[in-house]
Amino acid sequence: MIKKIEHIGIAVKNIESSNQLFEKLLGKKNYKLEKVESENVSTSFFMLGETKIELLEADNTTSAISKFIEKRGEGIHHIALDVEDIDFEINRLKNEGFEIINDLVKDGADNKKICFLHPKTTNGVLIELCEEKKQHQ
Ligand code: ZN
Repeated sequence: MIKKIEHIGIAVKNIESSNQLFEKLLGKKNYKLEKVESENVSTSFFMLGETKIELLEADNTTSAISKFIEKRGEGIHHIALDVEDIDFEINRLKNEGFEIINDLVKDGADNKKICFLHPKTTNGVLIELCEEKKQHQ
């Protein structure tokens, strides 16, 4: 089951200045800064009621965020959906004809297991599925 929009990911060139910008915009501080080694990105999270905004800055040129900004500039990079069971959803979506970028879920920011759907099968929107890691895992 897909529960809600967990967060919206925004690609930025400089996470410090974008943090200040979003602090002003939202009138609150981020609750977390986190490097995600597997994705070569630094992230910053703002809580907004039921959902979040994730700022992403590339740590190096191999990062997908670096390539995205080169091609399209700063802006909305992905929409993340909160799912109850990520492996179940991957199977379900594959059967529906969606292309999964990484079949094997990986560790994402903010204590999540994540995977991405290829934007060519989702109207050009990069979709992230994420499942909160349980305490006992
Ligand atoms: Zn994300």
